[in-house]
Amino acid sequence: MAAALMGVCAASARPAGAQAVRLGVVMDLPRQMLEKLWTDDEHQTERAYCVTDWSYGVYHVSRTKPVQDDTVFRVFEIREAETDAATPISAEFQCPEGMPELHVHTPTTCMGEDVNTCVAGGLNAFSCQPSRGDLEKIVQRHDEFAVIQCDKRAFRFYYPSDYGPAPPDYASSKSDNRRDAGNLTPAMKADEQLGPPPTDPGSGSRVKP
Ligand SMILES: [Zn+2]
Repeated sequence: MAAALMGVCAASARPAGAQAVRLGVVMDLPRQMLEKLWTDDEHQTERAYCVTDWSYGVYHVSRTKPVQDDTVFRVFEIREAETDAATPISAEFQCPEGMPELHVHTPTTCMGEDVNTCVAGGLNAFSCQPSRGDLEKIVQRHDEFAVIQCDKRAFRFYYPSDYGPAPPDYASSKSDNRRDAGNLTPAMKADEQLGPPPTDPGSGSRVKP
């Protein structure tokens, strides 16, 4: 679907198979554009863009079997999306089918949607995770990826697989009591001793739904 519209994809096949690691890169031109527009103004509203030119490449770099498809997505060009009712914490927008979406998480914290209550920084500033709404939207749209800009030069790609039931390999490693120390904040203690790291290099990048 994307390949037909974009004309730039490396191949017409979709990234598929034993998917392991997905990486995303915002290339020079869109990155410079987004860097310039980044502001610490506490009264800004969310901005949104449609990705009009992107590609992906599939690589086989895992050293353990089975061979898995690692995918690198590259964003070459974006355009501003028509936004309805943008607030400091949300933006209603819809890119045409086949154009992945990029939106900005502003560096401010607000009380609800009133822009006048926003302050620079604060508890929720620089949040680089997709919200529940962001994840529900990407699943509904069937996009391969979407992007959040959460700091001047920081971009977080997210994928439909970030939402939904845990993949079977994650579930089985959990029942083996192999806890991933990366999921624990300093305030949390693993109730069992940490086991060896998972042998699947792809599982470390998966996020609990
Ligand atoms: Zn968001």
